[in-house]
Amino acid sequence: MNNSNGLSMDINKAVAEYRKNFSDQGLEIKAGLKAALIDMDGVLYDSMKYHTLAWQRMVSEQGIASSRDEFYLYEGMTGQETIELIWRRETGKIPDADTIRKLYSIKAKYFIEMGEKELMTDADRMLQALVDADVKRILVTGSAQSSLLNRLDHDYPGVFLDGYKVTAHDVIHGKPNPEPYLRAQKISGTRPEETIVIENAPLGVRAGVAAGSFTIAVTTGPIPIEYFEKEKPDLIFPSMSALADAMPNIIYTLRN
Ligand code: MG
Repeated sequence: MNNSNGLSMDINKAVAEYRKNFSDQGLEIKAGLKAALIDMDGVLYDSMKYHTLAWQRMVSEQGIASSRDEFYLYEGMTGQETIELIWRRETGKIPDADTIRKLYSIKAKYFIEMGEKELMTDADRMLQALVDADVKRILVTGSAQSSLLNRLDHDYPGVFLDGYKVTAHDVIHGKPNPEPYLRAQKISGTRPEETIVIENAPLGVRAGVAAGSFTIAVTTGPIPIEYFEKEKPDLIFPSMSALADAMPNIIYTLRN
């Protein structure tokens, strides 16, 4: 990066502010970075364009109004929560559990029919920096989409070990509730200040911040940057490539 000096200053500043925030709350940081809590859709896979299309198709077939763009903003919520939100808004009531399951399975079917989903460019390089520095990796997704979850170990071999995955099946509340990230901290045996969160969605950023992690937003879709700034992540990157470039420096700064 030609502005690497500026960027490392940003990283230093972000880490200093994060630590000050902790000490202002009377908390003590005892150790540096140990684990990265990593979202899947829009971070590891360039999959949000397919998810949003599949959502809108399913919803419109039910005679319910929606816009494709709104589904980018709901990213991170579980499928059940998304269905409840839209049906409550448009019909004033939510479907029963069985109907919700059926609606979600239709959406999942449409997503699968769209074929193979591309890996996010440079996500492998970002992950390799974590592996090289022996930072534990934990997947934290609101998704229950087995078509991607089952491919993960093939697409990113050795990155996410058994048991280091939090999916929609493992939590009651999806993002923006901090539960998925708190659960990942518990699984990895880390305190919040020993973790980073990597997120492409505003609601996911909100969950990471609420969980006390050093939260990194990476914008990989059409959501305007203001939506991310509102959630107050510690750092925002304009692309996965920019985050991959900076990751070794982020790890170093959070350990020193
Ligand atoms: Mg995401």
